[in-house]
Amino acid sequence: VLQLQGIHKSFGDREVLRGIDLTVRTHEVVALIGASGSGKSTLLRTINLLERIDDGQILLRGQDISDPRVPADAVRARIGVVFQHYNLFPHLSVLDNVTLAARHVFRESRQDAEARGIDLLGRIGLAEHARSFPDRLSGGQQQRAAIVRAIATNPELLLLDEITSALDPELVGEVLDLVRELKAEGTTIVMATHEMAFARDVADHVVFLDQGLIAEQGPPEQLFGAPREPRTREFLSRFL
Ligand code: ATP
Ligand code: MG
Repeated sequence: VLQLQGIHKSFGDREVLRGIDLTVRTHEVVALIGASGSGKSTLLRTINLLERIDDGQILLRGQDISDPRVPADAVRARIGVVFQHYNLFPHLSVLDNVTLAARHVFRESRQDAEARGIDLLGRIGLAEHARSFPDRLSGGQQQRAAIVRAIATNPELLLLDEITSALDPELVGEVLDLVRELKAEGTTIVMATHEMAFARDVADHVVFLDQGLIAEQGPPEQLFGAPREPRTREFLSRFL
């Protein structure tokens, strides 16, 4: 569903992505791992057109979305995103957060959008919090609501950037469980994560980024069990 070809991105004279080629298949969960500063977030942001690439191509279902003539809004309507922080609008109720895109981007009626919103919130045990403001929710509840918001419009692709790294440890599990459920339902996911055990467990494909390049990629058994590159081994040894 997604193909990245020769992606280059610089900030000033610092080249942060130095030629990334990556294919993400439908229903696949791809984990991006790598040291801080290796370019994981930048790569996710380029897919969502929050950063414009300097060179290369991004194909979403075969369409070159990196072509500047393609409107970013149209692309973002097809891609769900959840970040580490500040995913929900604090001045909107949880339900309004979840239904915002359906109503304003997809022009669904309030009734339809809210019925589905309540349904989705019910799935994560938050139906009774639908009218609450985000600050009434725990960090884990907020992240789960953010995930539900990101999938409320059935995007073709879900991008998750370190969605558990700001959470208290006891709240991480409930968020990761939701990601596991989405995978079971066939959601296509690209996630940057420092949760190596989780990546090993749920990812179909693991990509190790090192200084803006893919140093190694493969199935989790290979990448975690028998890494070929010394850099991968060195990086993973920090998590033992
Ligand atoms: P982390 O694990 O800490 O989240 P990361 O792999 O996500 O790291 P990025 O956030 O993609 O890394 O950053 C890659 C490099 O790009 C870093 O050196 C960062 O300082 C730089 N960078 C990112 N965004 C910008 C920006 N808007 N302007 C300038 N430099 C940037
Ligand atoms: Mg990052």
